Amino acid sequence: MSKVVIVTGGSRGIGAATSLLLGAKGYAVCVNYRANRECAEKVVATIMQNGGNAFACQADVSREADVINLFDATEERLGSVTHLVNNAGVLFAQSRLADIDLERFNRVLKSNVISCFLCSKEAIKRLQPGSAIVNVSSRAAQTGSPFEYIDYAASKGAMDSLTKGLSIEVAASGIRVNAVRPGFIYTDMHADGGEPGRVDRLAPQIPMQRGGSADEVAHTIAWLLSEEASYVTGAFIDVAGGR
Ligand code: NAP
Repeated sequence: MSKVVIVTGGSRGIGAATSLLLGAKGYAVCVNYRANRECAEKVVATIMQNGGNAFACQADVSREADVINLFDATEERLGSVTHLVNNAGVLFAQSRLADIDLERFNRVLKSNVISCFLCSKEAIKRLQPGSAIVNVSSRAAQTGSPFEYIDYAASKGAMDSLTKGLSIEVAASGIRVNAVRPGFIYTDMHADGGEPGRVDRLAPQIPMQRGGSADEVAHTIAWLLSEEASYVTGAFIDVAGGR
């Protein structure tokens, strides 16, 4: 089966590293982005320069119409979708729960949970046996991120429930659904939380004494998508340096 993957939020950070790795491994890649076209096009250009196949596709994956267009456009450009990485996600400024308003809570749930729900739903209508989905959750789902972003942590907890439930619903159809739970990874996301240097500050609390790279997460995602993980479903892999 020729492999066609959609990586949501493939323009930057973990999504970009995953798109590049999967492109190098022979997947045709739809590099999804919401706003940052230039970064998405750079990822596509690198994949193509290395002999792969990819295209960039704008879609806000928290919107159902955009998600349907994303899958239709991918099928038209690359062929039937065989794999999905639900990676797109956001967080906002570090705050206690008491200072998080309803609008922000709704935005986080829409961007992190509704997006995963919509993309997974669209995927399972189209995926064939042998296909796989990987959700990019977070260690925050289990730590709860007190004093920083409980809203974000709760959205990742919901993603974990979705992963578990869906993995069982589609297991007999030959579709695998797994998740990675990254810890502190060097990407732009921490600047969105108001602290670009957060990973370095927290590194001494990590058993391995360092933050992780987007590439290290990408390799775990690629393994979960691959045939090497053919008997793995409903599983969660922490990529968090022992934390
Ligand atoms: P990032 O560098 O901020 O990149 C986020 C990506 O998501 C960008 O490509 C962005 O697109 C895209 N995106 C956001 N909302 C979107 C939407 N509604 N529709 C389509 N694309 C959207 O973040 P990252 O650190 O790589 O995070 C990737 C995933 O890993 C997230 O789910 C995050 O929660 C998870 N994670 C990260 C860490 C960490 O330490 N970095 C730890 C645990 C889990 P644009 O470029 O167009 O803005």
